[in-house]
Amino acid sequence: MICLNCGCQLDLEVKFCPHCGAPTKMSDENNVGEITIIREKKVFGFAIGFEAYVDDTKLGSLPNNSTLSCHVPYGTHEIKLTSTEKDVIQDIELNENQRNVEVHIIPKMGLLAAKPFIQEIKYK
Ligand SMILES: [Zn+2]
Repeated sequence: MICLNCGCQLDLEVKFCPHCGAPTKMSDENNVGEITIIREKKVFGFAIGFEAYVDDTKLGSLPNNSTLSCHVPYGTHEIKLTSTEKDVIQDIELNENQRNVEVHIIPKMGLLAAKPFIQEIKYK
């Protein structure tokens, strides 16, 4: 997220810019949704670690059978899943009719190891 007032790069979920104090899009709770990334429990590929990013900010690691989530303002957001193989990138759009999204991922066999595969995207 970028500050609309001073243009500096902001962390996810901040309501006010730490540099100039301007409110961000997150300060209006009527225009905020939630992204949840769910890694399903799978026996195959369970040891391969995935990392999840939203808008280039690292959300965290996604071991087998785990969930990460964050709040974001309405708009288009980029989800990136990384592993030892090629990154998986997916744009999602949140708005008043689809406030929340669940991204379900599973490991899928790549050339050398398992890589994240988006099995389903559920808007709510
Ligand atoms: Zn600012």
